[in-house]
Amino acid sequence: MQEIITKTVQLHDKKFASHISAAEIDNAVAKIASAINTDLAGKNPLFVCVLNGVFLFAADLLRKIETPCEVSFIKVSSYEGTASTGEVKTQIGLKEDIKGRTIVLVEDIIDSGNTIAKLLPILESQEPAEIKIATLLFKPSAFKRDFKIDYTGMEIPNDFVVGYGLDYNGLGRNLPEIYKLNE
Ligand code: 5GP
Ligand code: MG
Repeated sequence: MQEIITKTVQLHDKKFASHISAAEIDNAVAKIASAINTDLAGKNPLFVCVLNGVFLFAADLLRKIETPCEVSFIKVSSYEGTASTGEVKTQIGLKEDIKGRTIVLVEDIIDSGNTIAKLLPILESQEPAEIKIATLLFKPSAFKRDFKIDYTGMEIPNDFVVGYGLDYNGLGRNLPEIYKLNE
């Protein structure tokens, strides 16, 4: 018999319960890497990773990429506390020339889709050959946009989650598993 143990963590004023294990995360990352390895072999893709939340996912994903590639980071913010502000601020832009390149835009989580919807025209104006979108987590019931997500690790309900790079007001990014807000 397998015992399912729910762990809880307290971050600031809120309690979070374990939700997605490290092994499940690893499977989701491997699934995305395998699809990218097949689709983008020989294209020298430039992975454009959206900080801060993506740092662990990007590190684990890139270690599983087997075709020559490049990696860069951009920084945006839209969340305050546990809700999206709806306003996306670009804090660090892209230095690379992306004209004619295959871009993989890498996100930790796609919620409303506002962040990617804001970034896409900025990247498209620089005329890359193609832009693929990869996200570890996707909340279909919160999604308000219509761009295509090429690689999704896992679909989750519209709960606020932390861990594996994702924070609640700065805390929780170091947790190796993903937790969700209690009730
Ligand atoms: P979107 O622009 O798609 O609404 O949200 C994108 C960004 O909001 C994500 O990259 C992430 O930084 C943040 N975000 C969305 N949902 C969550 C969540 O459940 N937990 C945390 N910690 N951040 C989230
Ligand atoms: Mg993010």
